[in-house]
Amino acid sequence: MASARIVIVKSRLLAGLRAALGDRHVTTDPERLASVEVDWTRRFRGRALALVRPGTTDEVVATVRACADARIPLVPQGGNTGLVGGGVPHEAVVLSTARLTAVEPATVDGQVTVGAGTTLASVQEHARMAGWAFGVDFAARDSATIGGMVATNAGGVNVLRYGAMRQQVVGLEAVLADGSVISRTSGLLKDNTGYDLAGLLVGSEGTLGVVTRARLRLVPPLPRRAVALLALTDASAAVTLAAELRRRLPSLLAAELFTDAGLRLVLDHARLAPPFATHAPVYLLVECGETEQDPSDSLAAALDAAGFDGDALLEADADARERLWQYRERHTEAINAEGVPHKLDVTLPLDRLAAFLGRVEGVVDAAAPGTRTYLFGHVGDGNVHVNLVGPSSEDEAADDAVLRLVLELGGSISAEHGIGRAKARWLAADRGRPDLAAMRAIKRALDPDGILNPGVLFG
Ligand SMILES: Cc1cc2nc3c(=O)[nH]c(=O)nc-3n(C[C@H](O)[C@H](O)[C@H](O)COP(=O)(O)OP(=O)(O)OC[C@H]3O[C@@H](n4cnc5c(N)ncnc54)[C@H](O)[C@@H]3O)c2cc1C
Repeated sequence: MASARIVIVKSRLLAGLRAALGDRHVTTDPERLASVEVDWTRRFRGRALALVRPGTTDEVVATVRACADARIPLVPQGGNTGLVGGGVPHEAVVLSTARLTAVEPATVDGQVTVGAGTTLASVQEHARMAGWAFGVDFAARDSATIGGMVATNAGGVNVLRYGAMRQQVVGLEAVLADGSVISRTSGLLKDNTGYDLAGLLVGSEGTLGVVTRARLRLVPPLPRRAVALLALTDASAAVTLAAELRRRLPSLLAAELFTDAGLRLVLDHARLAPPFATHAPVYLLVECGETEQDPSDSLAAALDAAGFDGDALLEADADARERLWQYRERHTEAINAEGVPHKLDVTLPLDRLAAFLGRVEGVVDAAAPGTRTYLFGHVGDGNVHVNLVGPSSEDEAADDAVLRLVLELGGSISAEHGIGRAKARWLAADRGRPDLAAMRAIKRALDPDGILNPGVLFG
């Protein structure tokens, strides 16, 4: 009886969605659903009832209302590059933002309004064409969307200079669980009129509303660049040097760390030549940017002043810089090719980062012997990506050991990827009961029936 009722509810829902969006943009074809039912790492899998692709905010409203009326969960999905299983549906309708890609011309004061489905790469290109730049960048730029980046408060390689997504958002338009549209996209830089709803949606991982448009701040372009790859004896030396360069180099844009284990994987996977004649335990990659002057000399001088005397490559030419970045940027795909990874994206206070890096592999080994651990990340922000390959998708013994160590050292269990489903179990331990209760109260107030992305954040 109950299952007959569910079938009727679903078929009514699909009929309603088709009437609102048109047959072409609502599908239940298993072949087309397959790609939205699994995450980028292949660790998280689920089942979608349907995939819908609204092309306007009104169509998003119709989709949300139809799901709310049928009490069927809705999962927003952008580029599906998220790394915490937050966009994977479980008996839910997937709302793809792929058609929400309208971009308005950049304003003279450096802001741009874009549809939630616009990729990071197209925002960067649009900014470039208008004589500006966008302050967020990372390797998934061709697929990650602005909606997903807002929802996860994405970070990337330039956070130490420009901040994460939260700092780029000037205003948002979003559809709430009852179908109402909140919108504040006029670009006011000063606007103290009560609760900052856009700020609340940033990092909400699709649990409070579907972001449909974002107004973003742009930054002045820094066309003169220099990149250095530095070989170091240990993680502690890399952390100290990154901090020194931060103090000495106002032009610093990025400070990224990786270890020799990760580099060897990248060399194999991407068939790249090793950067130096001999391998080193740890590498630091730094980038500086200026408007007019080549920053190579000031970077070299800062390295000297910081007492660095190891192997180094310093490049200002665009192709050569790109070659150096490959050693860092190809880590994620190389690790994915090695196996289905457990990805733990954590931040430590900078004065405890070296201690964490020194202890983490031992902790993993004790919890799950034989696990291969690959460490890389945005060392300038205290942010390390701990990648574990070996344990089955369900075996979380090593994950738990790493997250325990993070909390013991006063860090955060999520730096920039979010909580999703992967870390929902750990949220209370990190944030504490009062924070969690406040978050649940907000969720209940805005989505009392739990339609939007159930299971994400709160488990
Ligand atoms: C190679 C690689 C490198 C990466 N590097 C970085 C990095 O340096 N820094 C970083 O922060 N992340 C990084 N990521 C992770 C990922 O790219 C980001 O989390 C990104 O923000 C996800 O965007 P997306 O469009 O793919 O979102 P999805 O994966 O589709 O969704 C992610 C979450 O956002 C929600 N969501 C998506 N769209 C919307 C919307 N319109 N409204 C409301 N909720 C929505 C989903 O429900 C889900 O919970 C990387 C990923 C890869 C594969």
